[in-house]
Amino acid sequence: MKYKRILLKLSGEALMSDKSYGIDSSLLEKYSQQIKNIHDKGIEIAIVIGGGNIYRGIESEKSGIDRVQGDYMGMLATLMNSMALQSHLEKLECDTRLMSGFNIDQVCEPFIRRRAIRHLEKGRIVIFGAGLGKPYFTTDSTASLRAVEIEANIVLKGTRVDGVYDSDPEKVKDAIKFNEISFDEAYERNLKIMDMTAFTLCKENNLPIIVFDMNKPGNLVKLVEGKKVGTLIY
Ligand code: UDP
Repeated sequence: MKYKRILLKLSGEALMSDKSYGIDSSLLEKYSQQIKNIHDKGIEIAIVIGGGNIYRGIESEKSGIDRVQGDYMGMLATLMNSMALQSHLEKLECDTRLMSGFNIDQVCEPFIRRRAIRHLEKGRIVIFGAGLGKPYFTTDSTASLRAVEIEANIVLKGTRVDGVYDSDPEKVKDAIKFNEISFDEAYERNLKIMDMTAFTLCKENNLPIIVFDMNKPGNLVKLVEGKKVGTLIY
């Protein structure tokens, strides 16, 4: 296998599929099966899942909720997605642990770095919920910081598109896809891969990112086998 330990980032929006809000459980079922497939190969897996399908802090002010309050609501949204994913993984008999960025003891453990690493070593799939537990961050920043902390080999960012393009492929017809691109070039071209905090953290810690289409079954297995899928940012 190409990687020993990975951090998989799933966006909340991807969970919506064609519903206008909420969690599409058939998608979660598919994702869980793919995660199990790489787990069976002995890969140590940590997961961060977004909350954009339920709530986004940045949009809160429009509805009269202040930003910080909205961000905490967004963190709770990520926890709901994390709990749903955990249940689906458990249905497939995967051993899992949910660790939270803020204390919510009835449903999950607090994030403790050494404990998270221990879980991974024991073959448990660790889900990091509630982001970093702090407002003004995103789940992308959570993914990069946690990946650095647990010494993951790579951040795999599963999205609805199959990589990074020079312009938005959902809007521009002949957008060109990169097979790989350096952090510096991605920055110069102002490509939106992750928010700046997340992007900088990966760059400064030499932590590569692969952006790939999570909705295509088999992609995750190909990636951990070292096959070229999506776009590598290095
Ligand atoms: N959030 C936060 N701090 C964190 C992680 C998340 O405040 O450390 C909030 C923020 O409001 C964000 C929301 O949680 O908008 C949902 O996460 P995100 O937008 O990253 O989800 P995604 O876009 O991946 O679905």
